[in-house]
Amino acid sequence: MDVVDPSTGERIESYAEHTQSGVEKALDRANAAFEDWRLRPVREREELLAAAGEVLRENKRKYAETMTREMGKPLSQALAEVEKCAWGCDHYAEHASAYLEPEGHPSPPGAAVETVYEPLGPVLAVMPWNFPFWQVFRFAAPSLTAGNVGLLKHASNVPGCSMAIEEVFREAGYPEGVFQSLLVPSEFVDEILADERVRAATLTGSGPAGRAVASTAGEHLKKTVLELGGSDPFIVLDDADISAAAETGAWARNQNGGQSCIAAKRFIVHTDVYQAFLDRFTEVVSSLTVGDPMDEETDVGPQARQDLLESLHGQVEASVEAGARVVTGGEPLDRQGAYYSPTILADIPEGCPADSEETFGPVAAVYEVPDETTAIEKANDTEFGLGASIWTEDRERGERLARQIDAGNVYVNQLVKSDPRVPFGGVKESGYGRELSNAGIMEFVNRKTVWVE
Ligand code: NAP
Repeated sequence: MDVVDPSTGERIESYAEHTQSGVEKALDRANAAFEDWRLRPVREREELLAAAGEVLRENKRKYAETMTREMGKPLSQALAEVEKCAWGCDHYAEHASAYLEPEGHPSPPGAAVETVYEPLGPVLAVMPWNFPFWQVFRFAAPSLTAGNVGLLKHASNVPGCSMAIEEVFREAGYPEGVFQSLLVPSEFVDEILADERVRAATLTGSGPAGRAVASTAGEHLKKTVLELGGSDPFIVLDDADISAAAETGAWARNQNGGQSCIAAKRFIVHTDVYQAFLDRFTEVVSSLTVGDPMDEETDVGPQARQDLLESLHGQVEASVEAGARVVTGGEPLDRQGAYYSPTILADIPEGCPADSEETFGPVAAVYEVPDETTAIEKANDTEFGLGASIWTEDRERGERLARQIDAGNVYVNQLVKSDPRVPFGGVKESGYGRELSNAGIMEFVNRKTVWVE
């Protein structure tokens, strides 16, 4: 697997892929490890997870630089990502026992009935490059602590991150085989998932990849969790704090080079504040520093791969051709590397790519709407249902409207973010299942009813 630095376009490293017999051995190791790991007390697994958090903190810079080199995330954001993974480890190291506590039920006289939570076995995690550490840890921290073992098939452009994550668990003292990285192309996924030693799968990525994994898993009756794409609305109402909305909105769209499933993508603005919002939003977006991701002052680095930049630009061009107006940006930067200028499009025609597809890069679509009913209709007028953000000074209004949005996460006066303490996931084409909090640890367990007379 070749690693190409997206800030230069140069190949910087190569990793040998696992062969079929290498995969076979890894599956055997996973299976053998599970037989012992499942029986360890949860407390012991929590302690190892806390140690993994420490390994992350001790090697924060090394891991952050690996991410930045492989996928172009600005270093400051990569450092924050490693910290967040350590937080995720701390969270489950502290709360897993309580989350997995058996649940009692009203029992008939003479009987004791409870539900106990037991692990399923080896779980295949198919993961994307955009948050190459966080996506993996938010699966692994709860699932390993519940007693499962993990097999990671990471995106092909981040093999160094994949191996570094395996190193974190090894350094923390996890038994061999409890977490393994498989450097394989996506063509291997079907066969691995079909293998009887693999009991379940989780995929974070695009719709087509999700469909492929869900279909194979369905054929073999294996549980899946799918975290897919999004086209999150960011609604600015007539009573919103415009400066706060514009500043947070600019960050919500452009952090991580705009390559986030929960980035704000469609800005739906009440007509009374439309011009004021657009002016301030444009000012903030135009002032973002685009450049070398290793420079800690950089706000927006390159896109993760040249082909992704090209498809993003294709979406912008097609939208403009359909009638959208470029307010700022709209072009790749004229320099080496996969750099795209932070872009705002307005007057968005219905059905153009910026309106109907996910734009996975720094491209904001801004809409003007006459009232809150139209704002909600527009917010829900998408195949996706991941997150949404609503801006209003009236908290009750925000809460009321939040209930009308078809999404897995709605934030009022805040950008959408994932947090280990609260469930995260989507509806519609954004997938199903939940990660994080108690909901996340419950996805890959056998909820076993035990009835004793
Ligand atoms: P992607 O192309 O779908 O790749 C994701 C993972 O799936 C990679 O490991 C990829 O392997 C693998 N894959 C691709 N096609 C597959 C197939 N047919 N069968 C099995 N595995 C397959 O997505 P991406 O470009 O890396 O990530 C961007 C997408 O992920 C966006 O749509 C984004 O919104 C979504 N995402 C969602 C969340 C969430 O929490 N909901 C979070 C982050 C990202 P290869 O690299 O080897 O192709």
